[in-house]
Amino acid sequence: MTLIVGLTGGIGSGKSTVGQYFVDLGIDVIDTDVIARMLTEPGGLAINSIKNSFGQAMIAADGSLNREKMRNLIFSDNNYKLALENILHPLILTETLQQIRKALSPYIIIAIPLLFETNDYDKIIQRTLVIDCEEKQQILRTMERSKLSEDQVKAIIATQISRTHRLQKADDIIVNNLDIAYLKAQVAQLHRKYISLS
Ligand code: ADP
Repeated sequence: MTLIVGLTGGIGSGKSTVGQYFVDLGIDVIDTDVIARMLTEPGGLAINSIKNSFGQAMIAADGSLNREKMRNLIFSDNNYKLALENILHPLILTETLQQIRKALSPYIIIAIPLLFETNDYDKIIQRTLVIDCEEKQQILRTMERSKLSEDQVKAIIATQISRTHRLQKADDIIVNNLDIAYLKAQVAQLHRKYISLS
């Protein structure tokens, strides 16, 4: 059986950046965020269910999910968040399993931002890789990348598992407090480890 590693970390910790380095090393990286976006694009598999549950107002003129409206709604009431997750999570899981079947690399990485907040992937992954980052850095990088305010980033972090708990659940950890060269070196080292495990 192919080794499957679940890659996770808080918002802005560096998951996408690390995922890209594994891709550069020839590894199949399945990104559940990319899948979620695909499902909510015009004609995406989740659009009809979202329309039925939340109304046409949540769908933008081009037929995609109105992300900003939905973000505001789910932050206003956790029940809406759960309702959206009930639509998206099974579809994301199905697509992830399809991509696993097509993958050819010696091991597979699945990037799952909320890996430890769900148990959907417990039977799929064999190891967890956590990207860890000082909260100050995490906030600054996310504000810069996503054009969000400090309070908005802090509100998102508050919905995620704490840094301490995430680290406790990690099999492998990448520390992303320093420069990109340091980050890349850690990815290269883990790549050798995963090849030897696979
Ligand atoms: P995530 O996918 O976990 O939300 P990203 O990989 O998108 O995080 O990283 C967040 C932002 O921080 C991006 O703009 C990325 O280019 C930048 N970044 C990540 N790691 C570093 C680093 N070591 N040094 C400088 N910028 C970084």
